[in-house]
Amino acid sequence: MLYSSTRNADEKVTASQAILKGLAENGGLFVPDSIPSLEVPVEKLADMSYQETAYEVMKLFLTDFTEEELKNCIKNAYDSKFDTEEIAPLVKAQDAYYLELFHGATIAFKDMALSILPHLLITAARKNEVKNDIVILTATSGDTGKAALAGFADVKGTKIIVFYPKDGVSPIQQKQMVTQKGDNTFVVGINGNFDQAQTGVKQMFSDKALAKEMEAAGYQFSSANSINIGRLVPQIVYYVYAYAKMVKAGNIQNGETMNVVVPTGNFGNILAAFYAKNMGLPIGKLICASNENKVLYDFFTTGEYDKNRDFILTSSPSMDILISSNLERLIYRIAGNDAKKNQELMKSLQENGKYEITAEMKEQLKDFYGNYASEAETAAIIKEIYDETGYIIDTHTAVAAVVYKKYQKDTKDVAKTVIASTASPYKFTRSVMTAIDEKYDSQPDFELVDELEKLSKVKVPQAIEDIRTAPVLHKTVCEVNEMQSVVKKFLGI
Ligand SMILES: *Cc1c(COP(=O)(O)O)cnc(C)c1O
Repeated sequence: MLYSSTRNADEKVTASQAILKGLAENGGLFVPDSIPSLEVPVEKLADMSYQETAYEVMKLFLTDFTEEELKNCIKNAYDSKFDTEEIAPLVKAQDAYYLELFHGATIAFKDMALSILPHLLITAARKNEVKNDIVILTATSGDTGKAALAGFADVKGTKIIVFYPKDGVSPIQQKQMVTQKGDNTFVVGINGNFDQAQTGVKQMFSDKALAKEMEAAGYQFSSANSINIGRLVPQIVYYVYAYAKMVKAGNIQNGETMNVVVPTGNFGNILAAFYAKNMGLPIGKLICASNENKVLYDFFTTGEYDKNRDFILTSSPSMDILISSNLERLIYRIAGNDAKKNQELMKSLQENGKYEITAEMKEQLKDFYGNYASEAETAAIIKEIYDETGYIIDTHTAVAAVVYKKYQKDTKDVAKTVIASTASPYKFTRSVMTAIDEKYDSQPDFELVDELEKLSKVKVPQAIEDIRTAPVLHKTVCEVNEMQSVVKKFLGI
């Protein structure tokens, strides 16, 4: 299996090289040349553990990893860092099945991929005889940062630098990042939003002069963002796992279609679901849920992607994104895997902030349904589900729950549906608790944590206990145009 750049048909690399590089030469993303079919039948998958399922899925994409290498990566990733043996349990509330993807070390779904990425990367470096230290450069809307820091802290031969929007993350997200231990970790708040952080990071990746200086000092960049194929492939696993477990529990018949609803920002998680569908998994609709930054909803409705609009800070900050990077992988595909055509559209995005796809391309988006949730709707659904069932969901998952109801109303589709539950409510405690009752707004963050425990009857996760009293270790704040000089300073170049 080889990987091609979405912007240059001639750039082809192996899986391990794609993981090492993160981003292709001219800002393109690596995509697999074909999507492999699942080899193991669902009856067999139904009896497999998460780790076994991960191997069956990932081996089809990461074909230059040996069985031993891949199994080692999986074993070291999906272990007691997760607080449940199931790794990704399903919970039914009202008429949807919530796939809880937040049982890892940093209590958001980013752990699903970022607990394995460091192992994949180190293995890839060894295979390709890389001598440089690898510098993981990452922009975060709040959750990737901590999950990547936790994954790479004190990993030999790596350094990790994380940029987050200083005023664009939840207090708990910020505290999680700035208390990170590890001599190789660096955390920087920027006076800007996530898109600016992501653009700044992408610019450094494609800066040839900087690459030379890095090389001379024995460094090379890689990425922990979902532009790295090493993030996407592990994310396909839990859709396969969820389907098999739905069959095993008798919630669906083997072969019956299942819809998925994904609260979406950078389009990585839902793209993984799309890949799973293309592997032959009986997924029906891919329901893309946005918050008030509804650029994707508009895109699916009109065929025009237009980021020229106000950037809104919402209670689901990990989805406050106007440039959904991974959409490029879908655009490339519906353009007939045409790098030239894709590059034209991406150039238009860069220069005019927008592009429009052809009717022919739009025709291929039929499996997707897009909608969005307002802030008021998001808060209301948290309260409704709590009042009716006692189950408490976080704000991102709530956006998906709202959109699922809109989808049902629009289509009358009754297919069984799995909602990707992307964060623990403990990560967004204030928004969640005030959605249930405004009276909580007067209490400090960590008191709300204890109140949430009383209401939800779910024990406070270790990730939260760890930061209650932890000292702040990272205090750097910079302007958007200072990102590169900050990186150089950290690296001493
Ligand atoms: C990152 C994140 C999302 C968005 O996922 P994408 O893959 O960027 O679309 C949604 N919810 C939470 C909690 C996240 O951390």
